This record gives sequence, structure tokens and C-alpha cells, in this order.
Amino acid sequence: MSSAPLPRQSDDFPAWYGEVVRRAGLAESSAIRGAMIIKPYGYAIWEAIQRELDDRIKATGHENLYFPLLVPASVLAREGDLIEGFAPEVAVVTAAGGKELEEPLAVRPTSEALIWSTYARWVQSYRDLPLLYNQWANVVRWELRPRLFLRTTEFLWQEGHTAHETEAEALAETLTILHDVYADTIEQVLAIPVLRGRKSESERFPGAVDTYTLEALMRDGRALQAATAHYLGQGFARTFGVRYTGRDGRPEHPYATSWGATTRLVGGVVMTHGDDRGLRLPPRVAPHQVVIVPIARGDEDAEVHEAAAAVAGELRSAGVRVRVDDRPGHRPGFKFHECEVKGVPLRVELGRRDLAAGTVTVARRDRGEKEAIRLADVPARAAAMLDDIQASLLREARDEQRRRTLRDPGGYDAMVGYLRDAGGFAAAGWCGRRDCEARVKDDSSATIRCLPLDWEHPSAGACICCGRAAAGEAVWAQAY
Ligand code: AMP
Repeated sequence: MSSAPLPRQSDDFPAWYGEVVRRAGLAESSAIRGAMIIKPYGYAIWEAIQRELDDRIKATGHENLYFPLLVPASVLAREGDLIEGFAPEVAVVTAAGGKELEEPLAVRPTSEALIWSTYARWVQSYRDLPLLYNQWANVVRWELRPRLFLRTTEFLWQEGHTAHETEAEALAETLTILHDVYADTIEQVLAIPVLRGRKSESERFPGAVDTYTLEALMRDGRALQAATAHYLGQGFARTFGVRYTGRDGRPEHPYATSWGATTRLVGGVVMTHGDDRGLRLPPRVAPHQVVIVPIARGDEDAEVHEAAAAVAGELRSAGVRVRVDDRPGHRPGFKFHECEVKGVPLRVELGRRDLAAGTVTVARRDRGEKEAIRLADVPARAAAMLDDIQASLLREARDEQRRRTLRDPGGYDAMVGYLRDAGGFAAAGWCGRRDCEARVKDDSSATIRCLPLDWEHPSAGACICCGRAAAGEAVWAQAY
């Protein structure tokens, strides 16, 4: 690993991001532009995210299944809005088995079309509802401005696709996913604070009645759409001929939702918590929550190695993910540096002198503090410190988000200036008209990230652009 200093966040945030992703061993580019190779350390973070999401998806009553990667182009084309929205990003297979295919096959950019064409067979009666299904898969969207993790042409995600008897039930499902599955994972596990809201019409998922979103703010003042849940109404059911016999014996179309979270979240963790020394991982997603570095020359210090193994054993029994870095070919200073770049929450240094004193030295990555701890106290203290790091990273990110959120922009020009400089979120009244939305975008590159759910809406505010009565409050920012 390079020991040259990283680019500073304040000097060149994109260069800092790229170097951290590379040096921490998260991912690298591949031969295909925009498609990335996820390396073991990056994949381990994704696996932690997957576990947490999957537990919550199942706890809210859903089951996992799997649909094929390739979708007949004609099936994808049946949903007009969907195909119009995704057409430029769809990759198509035209030959296979050594010959031209009679019908081209699309590589799924999302699976609504294939899944709803199948639900037509699965739903006959109200007794078949609800369908509460999710799949873990890869999808391809031919992105023109790819960035590792944040926007890749192939990404890993889960996509939920549910069918319900009533609109109220489908809407409740959309919000359950937004709050209890996504926001809970992203805030409590990834320690990324999010704004919950609805998208404006222009930012809605193709074919959706409403798109609900979680918007996070990165350390450079740009927003990241962390996850979305769509209320799809009856459009997909109509298009794909999904009908059932209702409780009163009459034919009905079910109501749909779909929702997805992706490998983008790994990039969100990097850009929310990382500092000029590298990554800082929240313990709940850290592949190694504690790394023990024995300070010993080769096998000479058997006692030191034994003590390190014993401490690791105790930590493991206490449920801590721990690694002993006893690689003989590297000096302790190299290992410390690596722990720092990789964002390991706690590093334990253990040498002869420590042993003699009956202590170890514990270094906290988030604050850079070091402390001597008695050997016997390590498991309890480490667990408490990990909890404290988790809470403190969320607090820090919340403070940063609050500091960068302009609630009273003081006029159109001031707001546009703030957004153009990527100052952060700016909230102001909006009349709901597209031309006002477009004007802000032209003047600042910022888009409406959401119409917040949990902020109070001004009753008599004016649109920041045109001065007409505001329909509510909108939050703008430049976005990834
Ligand atoms: P969608 O199906 O378009 O609502 O996408 C679901 C989620 O996927 C979005 O909320 C984004 O967080 C994420 N996402 C969209 N495009 C990409 C991409 N190219 N790479 C990684 N994540 C993405």
C-alpha cells in the first residue's frame, strides 16, 4: 500500500474518494467502462449491508426468490413509461448459441416487466394476495458518467416487488420499506442520516405514481439518493393483464410496489464518514471491528502471539469481529497505517512491554485517540467503545448535515449561489411547477432531491422561484 498522503478532501474530493476506494481495497475498474471489480474488503462491507437489509426484509414479512437475468425485449417493451425511461440504458443480447436470436433479450435494468408478466399467472383470487417478494440480483444500466460504487453499469441490489388488494395496503407497504427497512439500516447500521421524502414528478421512477426516497448528504455537500421505494398503483397490473377475483366476486387489478437498494451504499459510507486519513467504518458494517497487531519480531515472542490469540478469542466470544494481523512480512507501522486507511474502528497494539504491565494499547479510528486498557477489561471495554463509535459517527454526520442544510435561503439568488457551490441541502417553498424546477437546475445544476415527509410544511410560503403560493417545501442539492 502506498504511504504517500491521500489527496485532501477539501482540495479534491473526487480524487480523495478514488484513492480511498483503491487503497482501502474496496474495488477497482474493470476492462468494461463503468463495471467494477469488487474486492474482498469492499464485498465484505456489502455482505454486512445485505445481511442487515435481508433480516429486515424478512422481518417485515417478505420472502426471497429469483428471476432470470435476461428479459425478452418484447416483454420489457410492453410497459411504455418503463421502456421510455430505461431505453438508453438497456443492454441487449442479440446472438447466442452461435447464431442470431429470433428475439433480442434485454439484460434486466430492473425486473418489474418480467415479474409482473409472471404475476399474471400467480394471481387469480384475492386469496393469492398479497405477494411480498424480494430478489437479490445484479442489474445493468448503461451509465454515461460512471463512478465506482456510486453509479456503475452493473450493480448489485435487492429489488422488492409486491402486489396488494388495496391502494392503502400498497401505500403502507411502500412506507414500511422506506422507514423500517431502508432508513433503519442506513441510519442505525451505516450511521448515515437521511432525509425522507417524495420525489417530484420529473425525478419519479418510470411508471410510478409516487417515488419515496432517502437522501443523504456527502462530505462535499452533494446529495446521494440512498434508496427508493415506489408506489406503482395499478399501471403494471393493467399492462401485464394481472387480474383477480375480488371479495365481491368482481374482477380487480392489484396494486403494486417496488423498491431497491444497491452497492451504491458502500460509496455512501466512504463519503459520509471518511477523513483525510482514509475510511472510517461504523462498527456495524466493519468487516473487522478490531484488529490486533502483535508487536513482536517473527516467532521470537511466542508469549506476545499467545496473548494476542487469547485476547482475540475473548473478543470473538463477546461477539466482536476480530482479526489478528500477525503477517510476518510487514512492520507494525505499516499495519497501523493500513488499519487507518481501511477504517478499522479499533486497533489493539500488544507488545512485550504491554504484557509486562498487564495492559494493551487501544486506538480509536474515529477520533484518533489512544488509551491503555487492562488486559482483563478488553472485551467489555472494546464492546462499549464500538457502541460509542457507532453512535458518535452518526452524531457527527447528523451535525454535518444540519450545518449544511439551509432552511431559509434568503432569496432565489442566494439559494442558487449556495447550490452552485455545492454547499449542501437548501429548503424552500416550491409551487410545484416544472419550469421553476428546471430554472433552478439551469442556474445551479441542482435538482429537487425530495419533498420532505417529516418536515413541517409552511402553510403560506411562496415559491422561491416565481413567488406564487408554494405547494410545500422542496429540498434542492447537487447530486451524485
Ligand atoms: P431505481 O430502481 O431506479 O429506483 O433505483 C434504485 C436505487 O438504485 C436508487 O435509489 C439508487 O440509490 C440506486 N442506483 C440507481 N442507479 C444506480 C447505479 N448506476 N449504480 C448504483 N446504484 C444505482
